[in-house]
Amino acid sequence: MLTGRQYLETLKDNRQTFFEGERVRDIATHPVLGTCAERVAKGYDRWYSPEPNAVSPLMTIPHSASELKERIPLTHAADIVSAVTYQSIMTLTTAATRIADTLPEYAHRIRAYVEDAQRRDIRIVECITDAKGDRSRPPGKQDDPDAYTRVVERRDDGVVIRGAKLHITGASLSHDLMVIPTKAMKPGEEAYSIACAVPVSSPGVKIVDTTYAPRHPDPRSFPVSSRIHMPEGFVILDNVFVPYERIFLDGETRQAAIFAHSLGLWERLGGLSAMAEEADQLVGFSQLIAEANGLADVGHVKEKISEMIIHATLVRAALEAAIANCQITPEGAFPNELYTNAGKYHAAANYSAMVRHLHDISGGSILTAPSIADLENEVTGPLVRKYLGTMNGVDGEYRARLFHAIRDLTADAYGGWKAVTNVQAGGGLYAQRIVTRKYYDLKGAREKALEVAGINHKSHA
Ligand SMILES: Cc1cc2nc3c(=O)[nH]c(=O)nc-3n(C[C@H](O)[C@H](O)[C@H](O)COP(=O)(O)OP(=O)(O)OC[C@H]3O[C@@H](n4cnc5c(N)ncnc54)[C@H](O)[C@@H]3O)c2cc1C
Repeated sequence: MLTGRQYLETLKDNRQTFFEGERVRDIATHPVLGTCAERVAKGYDRWYSPEPNAVSPLMTIPHSASELKERIPLTHAADIVSAVTYQSIMTLTTAATRIADTLPEYAHRIRAYVEDAQRRDIRIVECITDAKGDRSRPPGKQDDPDAYTRVVERRDDGVVIRGAKLHITGASLSHDLMVIPTKAMKPGEEAYSIACAVPVSSPGVKIVDTTYAPRHPDPRSFPVSSRIHMPEGFVILDNVFVPYERIFLDGETRQAAIFAHSLGLWERLGGLSAMAEEADQLVGFSQLIAEANGLADVGHVKEKISEMIIHATLVRAALEAAIANCQITPEGAFPNELYTNAGKYHAAANYSAMVRHLHDISGGSILTAPSIADLENEVTGPLVRKYLGTMNGVDGEYRARLFHAIRDLTADAYGGWKAVTNVQAGGGLYAQRIVTRKYYDLKGAREKALEVAGINHKSHA
């Protein structure tokens, strides 16, 4: 396993990372990206074991519902690059299981890659979302044929790929890009049916980062995002060579969607578990601010918080059901598709309504509460404390800190990131509707309705 220091050394591999118009020569010392690298390094130290064959708990494959459940708090405690590494390992393992009968050679390569990644303790990010061009047209009918990542050249020892993968969380902080087709492919789209693992330092890989990191000098004004921000990478694959041993699909259109579906399952389980946690946090903030404002026993406030509690409980129940009803295979335990997708959809679709309740209950100081530095100023401090305080036992600083956290979590750059991410990550809401419908027992529901209506279903089928 790698220590945090060793991880930081691995980033000095001449990778081409760009940030706000400039090439980043040394990620570890960069004012924004450096703090992200330090966070990932801390994760390495946290799970480090000097045992010769030790594997990070976030790189091992769960084999039962209880092991699946044990991973959830680990992923929440982890930085997002380590969390998506777990999802990438599980995506590949699930895809290998699903293609093993028809494409055993690729399944074998995937398993060998996963074992090697575990041994090297690397970080892997999920590269599925292509540039996509005109959304109404398939890959082969785009004005620019590179709108979807494709094979542009074939060599004796591998292939050359070209394209771009957008919104790739933590790409610059990882070692490998797990590149997979973004959707199902049809005959004629063989060049686009490519799945492979690409080192970030490969010639031709260029990553343009964006961030929601607070750019304020005082991190106390951003108590949430200052601790957890991570860049999103616009990953350009500009004629990148991939050797055959790192290719997991190459031209087999029928199996292209298996990779996207496998990733969707793990990405949505991750999203569902994060939203179960966030739903509890939103309830907690609503209750704390209602108490601090003296309104915790007022009817309309209690009703809103009750609604938030019901939402949080149902999201948690979907997560529990997804795990308890997991599919056990010889390769690992995979969460239940129906509960994962329906739960993720419900959590994401109702997230903004829960935030609305929190904002409604909290009041305008979410946006306007003075900073901690203003509370420390000898002129303004006592006056801000006096007027931001509400009663004995609820002083101005306590309320200011609650408001800062609520603003940062729901109403500032990170809050905006979260609102969009909850809807889009793991494929937009539409993707979850499709998968939910696929796994729901619609035939059984029809039969139940016919029975209730007293209609002989055989004569009306
Ligand atoms: C912060 C953030 C982090 C992300 N992290 C990652 C990551 O790590 N790795 C990764 O691969 N992706 C990542 N994503 C990408 C995410 O999966 C996509 O944003 C999502 O799949 C939607 O794709 P898009 O952004 O290209 O939007 P679009 O495809 O343009 O979709 C916009 C809307 O159009 C609809 N639409 C699109 N095409 C069609 C069509 N043909 N017919 C009908 N409706 C259509 C969609 O359903 C959606 O409602 C991330 C996204 C965000 C916001």
